Amino acid sequence: MQTKDFDIIFAGSGMAGLSLAYRGLREGIWQNESILIVDKDIKNKNDRTWCFWQHANEKSPFQEVFYHSWKNLFFFTNEGRQIPLNNGNYAYHMIRSIDFYQFVLSFLRQSPQVTFVQAEILSIENAPHAGTVQTRDAAYKAKYVFNSTFSKPQLKPWDQYFLQHFKGIMIQTKQFSGNPSEMHLMDFRTTQENGTTFFYVLPVAQDQLFIEYTVFSKKLLEDGTYDLKIKQYLNEVLEITEYEILEHEFGIIPMTDFRFSRKNGPVMNIGTAGGDTRGSSGYTFTNTQKTVSKILASFREKGHPFFKKENISEKHQLLDSTILKVLDQHVYPGHQIFSDLFTHVDANSIFAFLDSESTARDDLKIMLSLKAKHFIAPFVKSLFKISS
Ligand SMILES: Cc1cc2nc3c(=O)[nH]c(=O)nc-3n(C[C@H](O)[C@H](O)[C@H](O)COP(=O)(O)OP(=O)(O)OC[C@H]3O[C@@H](n4cnc5c(N)ncnc54)[C@H](O)[C@@H]3O)c2cc1C
Repeated sequence: MQTKDFDIIFAGSGMAGLSLAYRGLREGIWQNESILIVDKDIKNKNDRTWCFWQHANEKSPFQEVFYHSWKNLFFFTNEGRQIPLNNGNYAYHMIRSIDFYQFVLSFLRQSPQVTFVQAEILSIENAPHAGTVQTRDAAYKAKYVFNSTFSKPQLKPWDQYFLQHFKGIMIQTKQFSGNPSEMHLMDFRTTQENGTTFFYVLPVAQDQLFIEYTVFSKKLLEDGTYDLKIKQYLNEVLEITEYEILEHEFGIIPMTDFRFSRKNGPVMNIGTAGGDTRGSSGYTFTNTQKTVSKILASFREKGHPFFKKENISEKHQLLDSTILKVLDQHVYPGHQIFSDLFTHVDANSIFAFLDSESTARDDLKIMLSLKAKHFIAPFVKSLFKISS
């Protein structure tokens, strides 16, 4: 079988692969390199909605495709108490994947440096000086392979592996009485028998809302349960009985303290496959952009993509691992943990924590807001795991 040579290969062109390819070429980091992008999909569907917070001082490379933004954020406890969040200079943003794909792909398609191949990747191999991506019809070799194809890792008995599974729908309705500038970041006004369960409510217009039923647990639910819970929430909590479903999405995000390997010779893992998903929250978009920034800075300064300091620090991994172990004990319920957290700590400190930018003071505030007795044993276990 023929082997074709490139300078850089992107194995997977979802959020992480496209972010790196786009930003690297846009910033002029790769001026002469030949680039191959391999994916089994052509990325022409709105298959996910990315939401994330961003500080007013920051500007995203994808600002042009922000679909909607909110400054006013709310949290609702399981008992129905409303907590307006002090998110300081952070705003919450939404990007629809179709806008992102179109924006990035229309740029990349104009570049003579880029070749696209639509094919299933069968394997990715590492040799000391090159990575090889194997498809059914060809093999592709490059000095650097950025891999974002994800499969569930081989876990050790002490690894936690929760699933964040969710169904989201975009609805059109005349019955929404809320304010489109206000969103519900976590709304726990739903039953908790399936795990830590809450809704996101993201109004994008007075008559259009994106609602997502989200569960942190180790098992998925029966298909119909997601729809039933959404219907109940719309009817009983938001008092919306008449609506048309415009779009829907289903997703599963791993929430784990498994240590993903970033680099394995010329193959570098990025996105969820590279450990850019935050274990305690599932948020991935911002962490991936920070990893992309580190890769590009390294290329700029040293001519290679490797960097030492991960954005999600050991300290933050330790805290995430502890939180997952506490959730697994089922003694201090998830909704209670988040209610205690958002009652006692400003959202801007929580956002800084989830972006791995929290100070020791923020971390202390977070720890003091929670019931310490449930955290001691999981913390010690996580400490052993991280240092082993
Ligand atoms: C529905 C949904 C909503 C999400 N919402 C948010 C959010 O609001 N905020 C947030 O921070 N995170 C969110 N996430 C988590 C995370 O941001 C996304 O999963 C994100 O797309 C991860 O980027 P990635 O590049 O690692 O993986 P992907 O975007 O999934 O890209 C991987 C690519 O690899 C390709 N691929 C996989 N296997 C093969 C193979 N064998 N051969 C060829 N191609 C292959 C896939 O087709 C895909 O294009 C969400 C995830 C989902 C599923």
